Order: sequence, then structure tokens, then C-alpha cells
Amino acid sequence: MAYIGGMTADPTYPHLDDAALAALSPETLAVAAGRPERGPDSPVNPSIVLSSTFVGLGGIDQTARGYARFSNPTWEPFEDAVGKLEGAPLPALLFSSGMGAVAAAMSLVPVGGVLVAPRHSYSGTLGLAQLKAERGELDLLEVDIEDTSATVAALDGADVLWVESPTNPMMEVADLPALVAAAKARGVLVVVDNTFSTPLGQKPLAVGADVVVHSATKYLAGHSDVLLGLAVTANETLRARLHQHRTLHGAIAGPVEAWLGLRGLRTLALRVERSQATAGELARRLAEHPAVTRVRYPGLPTDPGHERAAAQFEGFGSIVSIELATAQAADAFVGRLALWLPATSLGGVESTIERRRRHAAEPLSVPEGLVRLSVGIEHADDLWADLKQALDAGL
Ligand SMILES: *Cc1c(COP(=O)(O)O)cnc(C)c1O
Repeated sequence: MAYIGGMTADPTYPHLDDAALAALSPETLAVAAGRPERGPDSPVNPSIVLSSTFVGLGGIDQTARGYARFSNPTWEPFEDAVGKLEGAPLPALLFSSGMGAVAAAMSLVPVGGVLVAPRHSYSGTLGLAQLKAERGELDLLEVDIEDTSATVAALDGADVLWVESPTNPMMEVADLPALVAAAKARGVLVVVDNTFSTPLGQKPLAVGADVVVHSATKYLAGHSDVLLGLAVTANETLRARLHQHRTLHGAIAGPVEAWLGLRGLRTLALRVERSQATAGELARRLAEHPAVTRVRYPGLPTDPGHERAAAQFEGFGSIVSIELATAQAADAFVGRLALWLPATSLGGVESTIERRRRHAAEPLSVPEGLVRLSVGIEHADDLWADLKQALDAGL
């Protein structure tokens, strides 16, 4: 793969081909994939290509670069690396945001078709599905994704099953292998939003899912400085449809953002390792605090999703939801934190926290006093000290 900047590429330099890269552990892959070809004085990172169009005398089709809405050389190393991390034989497709990727994947529901989705899907995903349902473009069946038999029952006559596991912010864990098997048996396409788990936590394509989407804004980029999305599939036809959607709807990433996404990916394993270890520790401490009525974290042995998470995930993730008695108590708690950032979004190096029902779009089944914590890479004791002073202040 000749990335720009590879003008000095020398094929006699030792390098890892695709097969050798596929044999690497994901931690190594996140660092080694998507590098420019090697040669004398070749750069170690891809260059940022700022060009809206590309020179060429021949015809322009799906394979030609042609114009920067079709493709950009700065996207390709990131797309290549994430495709490999998800275990796909094809590169991922980069979008301008997670919702860009979600919209492309949702376009796989045929007009008038049936979409089955978790009632606690990401609010933007649910909002888009509800909008399409209101316009008569599709029928939306909202399910409790934790309840496998109810979800399977909804699959009869369905076209696409959308899965988030764990869900946001309720932290419900789906039985993904059972749901995929049931969907396959009925010819239902499976899309998994893998934002929370990251490819280090679970690889849905390996279980048989058809498409994986990511808000790369979160863990993959990891520094709360860009919005990006990705869609990954092992199926050429599906990839062509997603690519066509991206080209025609125009949700394409800027080259600088794409470069930052790959730059962030390099440290994914370290960030995830640290933040999920800290999340486990904080979840245990929070569960013991009298002001906290419930902790939702699949890493706790008492959590209803624990067994499934232990079987399906590599690690339990860095999102912890806690419940306080009332919305007022939750707002007062968040308002007293000085280290934690009171902000929406998640997956950055900095810890962020918010009461989810402050969003008008949040489903009413999410408790008023639920606070979602996105644990960053700060020291666990500093994060705990801030939480503790805010909880101890009396709510
Ligand atoms: C944030 C998020 C999205 C949307 O991504 P954007 O990058 O904000 O467009 C989709 N799914 C999940 C699970 C998310 O957390």
C-alpha cells in the first residue's frame, strides 16, 4: 500500500505484509498498521494531503481517486488499521462523525423494511431511526437487548438488527453470539455499534456480525479533539453500498481530523488498559458509598451483565453509570467536581461525567438520577478523591 510520502519506498527493506500484520496481537497492530512503506528517509507517519481533487487523464470510476469526496490518501492508513483491528479483510470506511457512519449503516434497511434496535441505543442512532419511522421510511421495533428471547421474537420479518453492547448509559450486555445466530437463521443483517468496547474489547465480525460502526470521536481517536466515524465490514457488496452512501451524502472526514484519528489510535491499547483498570477500581469504591444507590458496571460480579461480559469481552470497559437518589442530588454531585469535566461525550484521556437525563432526547426509562462516568487515564486516587469529596458533601 503506497501511502503518500512513500516516494522513497524500497521493496527490499524488510516490512510486514498483510498476512504478517494479521498475525500480530491487537496492541501491536494498533501501532504497526497503516504505516508508509519503508525506504531510505521515508517518513514513519503518513502525510496530511490537502487536495480537493486529483490529477488524472484517464476515466474516473469507483477505483480512481479522482475527487476528494471519493477518497483521500490521508484516510487510507487509518481505514486500513481499523479494518485490520476489527479482523476484516477489507479496509474500514472513514466518516466525518460517528453519526455519518451510523446513517450509512442504517441506509442498509430497505425502504419500508424493519429495523430492530435497543431501546437504549445511542440517542442519535435512536433519533435517526425514529425520524425515519415517522416519515414511513422504515418500521422501528425497540427492544430490551438484554432480553434475548424478546429480541429474537422481534427478528421475524425484520431486515436489520442493530446492537449496542454494553448499551449507553444503562450498561446492558447483549448475548451477541445468540442474537447473531438467530439473525442469520432469519436472513437478518446485523450491525454492531462497537464504540464502547473498541476492537480491543470485542470483535463482532468474528462472531458473524455484518457491519461494525464506531464513533471514532471516542476511544479510537481518544483525545476529545476530533469527530470521526468508521464503518467496517468483511463483505465487498456491503462495503460498496456504504462507500456509495458516503460519496453521495458527503459525510467525509477532513484530512487533518483523519490524521489525528490515526495518531490517537497508536495509544489505544495503553489508554484502554489504564482507564478500564481504574474504572473497575472506582466502580468497587462507588458501590460502597452510601449516597450511591446503584452502580452499573459489567465488571462488578453482582452486575446482571457480568457473566456475559466476562464471556464476550476482553476487559469490562471504562464507562461506569451510577444512580443517585434524585436528579437534584445528581446535579449537585456533578456540580462539585473539580477534576472530572462536566461534559458529554466519552472515551477521552480526560475523565468526563454527566447526568444523562439532562439531554431532552434521553429515553425516559433512564433514571433521572443516573450519572455516566467516562473514566480517563488520570490516577485512580485523584479521580476517587474528587468523587468522594463531592459525594461526602451531602446530597
Ligand atoms: C458518540 C456516539 C455515537 C455518535 O458519534 P459522533 O461521533 O458523536 O457522531 C454513536 N454511537 C455511540 C455508541 C456513541 O457513543
